[in-house]
Amino acid sequence: MFAKTALDWGARCSDSDDMAKQRSRSDLVRDPHRPGDKCRAEPGTYLPVVHQPSCEADNACVAACPYDVFEIRTIDGTDYTRLSIKNKLKVRVHGMKMAYTPRAEDCRACGLCVVACPKDAITLVKVPVTA
Ligand code: SF4
Ligand code: SF4
Repeated sequence: MFAKTALDWGARCSDSDDMAKQRSRSDLVRDPHRPGDKCRAEPGTYLPVVHQPSCEADNACVAACPYDVFEIRTIDGTDYTRLSIKNKLKVRVHGMKMAYTPRAEDCRACGLCVVACPKDAITLVKVPVTA
C-alpha cells in the first residue's frame, strides 16, 4: 500500500491552465504541448487513481492511455456498497460500469488520461520511495 499523496498535476506539469481551458479535451490529447507532456516517470513511480463517484464509464481513459492501464468493467460489489444513494443511481444509469486500473504499475505519468477524462475523475499519485 502507499500513502495517497495528492499530486497537483496542473501545478507540476502544465504549461498553462488558462490555455488548457481554451481548447477542447480532444485537442489537448493530440497536442504535444498538453499538460503533462514533459512528465514521463519510470513505471511504478506514479499511479492513476479513479474517483469512482465521478466516473461515468465513458471509456475516454481507456482510449487515451498508451500503456493500457485502464479497463471499464462492472463495478465491484464492495465499491458499489460504498457509494451514496445518488451515486448508486448514477452507476446504474451507466450500466453498472466503472473505470478500473488493473495495470496501474505500467503508468508512466504522461497525463493523457487526466486530460482526457471529462469528469476530472483521475488523479496521479506519487508512490512513496521505500527504504
Ligand atoms: S475517462 Fe474518466 S469518466 Fe471516463 S471512464 Fe475514465 S475515469 Fe471514468
Ligand atoms: S498517466 Fe499516462 S500512462 Fe499513466 S494511466 Fe494515465 S494515460 Fe496511462
